[in-house]
Amino acid sequence: MKVYDTIAAISTPRGKGGIAVIRISGEECVAILKRVFVPCGKDPVEYARRACFGHIVGPDGDVIDEGLVTYFATPHSFTGENVAEISCHGGVLLTETVLGAVLAAGARPATAGEFTARAMLNGKMGLASAEALGALLEAGTKGQMLLARGGMEGKLADATSALYERLTAILSDIYAKVDFPDEDLNSMSEQELRAALLEVRERTAALAATWHTGRAVSDGVRTVICGPVNAGKSTLYNAIVGRDAAIVTDIAGTTRDIISETAALGQVTLHLSDTAGLRDTEDAVEKIGVARADAAIDEAELVLLVLDGSKAPDGGTRALIERLKRVQGTVVAVLNKEDRGGDFPSEVLADFAHVVKISAKTGDISPLSSLVERLYTDETLDIRNDAVVANARQFAALVRAAEALDAAIAALDAGIPLDASCVEAELALSAFGEVDGRAVGEDIVANIFSRFCVGK
Ligand code: GDP
Repeated sequence: MKVYDTIAAISTPRGKGGIAVIRISGEECVAILKRVFVPCGKDPVEYARRACFGHIVGPDGDVIDEGLVTYFATPHSFTGENVAEISCHGGVLLTETVLGAVLAAGARPATAGEFTARAMLNGKMGLASAEALGALLEAGTKGQMLLARGGMEGKLADATSALYERLTAILSDIYAKVDFPDEDLNSMSEQELRAALLEVRERTAALAATWHTGRAVSDGVRTVICGPVNAGKSTLYNAIVGRDAAIVTDIAGTTRDIISETAALGQVTLHLSDTAGLRDTEDAVEKIGVARADAAIDEAELVLLVLDGSKAPDGGTRALIERLKRVQGTVVAVLNKEDRGGDFPSEVLADFAHVVKISAKTGDISPLSSLVERLYTDETLDIRNDAVVANARQFAALVRAAEALDAAIAALDAGIPLDASCVEAELALSAFGEVDGRAVGEDIVANIFSRFCVGK
């Protein structure tokens, strides 16, 4: 393990709270603790993994606060180094004063994500797990939280490492053949080598395919709710976000500007926008709203076309339905007000692949949730317990690995000397290494950790 200087930061959010935690990590941890903390009992502060009550003192010897110190001796700590957590009362100035005392006692302020970066550098977690930890802190939906937990436990890293190990074994077989062509090494035949490479390629492609689900959960789907006035768009928006965010009235033209937030339908994360009802209007403000709604529809990945299913469509609604047939994104025709019974002629929607009936007002939107989950996730995949690709960087690396394996197999098929397959297989190997972090460039690591907060 490398020895780094000793860092410290406030690890709880800025602002007033019941308690705050200041974290210290590094070689000098105990020496620094002894300068800023005086235990009240007989036990020394460096008694590992036991809370020690005492006084926190400043550089001038004045007591700043009373609090608890929990010390974790290397290597059994988050970073793998000597780590201490000082819990004090959660006043903003108080917490900063405690941190100031720790810095005056010899620690350096930690940079963003530096504790986690050290954990990775010290082998306490792989890159995929560190990225998952970042995602866990950012998680805004239950799906994102479950996916991040699975990632932290190393499901994806394990699956990728298994591919790495398997390919390494195949490669050493190929190298043996290349280096000692005349020896009977009892190694695989070319036929067996091909089959083995193909098997790794198929497993790689299957792992990459989990990004379909991972993307819908972690990145989310840009979604627009549109439709005629009074169809129930704002009611549906509120039902999805789970609170009264959009104004619902039976006065046509209430929603004039676009309102947006991130919400979940089942496990799928939606970047959801409610738009002005689409109609011809003379109202200048509403006109702008309608133009914005039009533009949002063209940019959306998923368009929820909300229609009042309890009555026959008028001319304006029919024109809107025609318009929606020509958009790029996936359109779901949502026949709302199911509780009132329906008079909506189904043939009008014959061109739409996806039609659901719901009642936004009663909150019964499960047919819509199920459809969206079916469209954007693989329902056989358990995002908490299976290996799932959770970001575009991991996906790109796996795609590169699969392409390199294709090229290795093609070289074998073309009868080109085995060295060519080796070159391609090596490329695949380094792409696997990028996912679990063993072969990732420093710039990428720096970029990933710069997105963490200080104290993490
Ligand atoms: P928007 O103009 O499309 O956003 O429509 P709103 O969400 O403002 O709803 C218009 C009216 O329809 C309001 O009076 C809602 O209470 C009512 N409404 C919305 N959804 C339903 C539903 O599922 N069933 C019934 N019966 N009324 C609904």
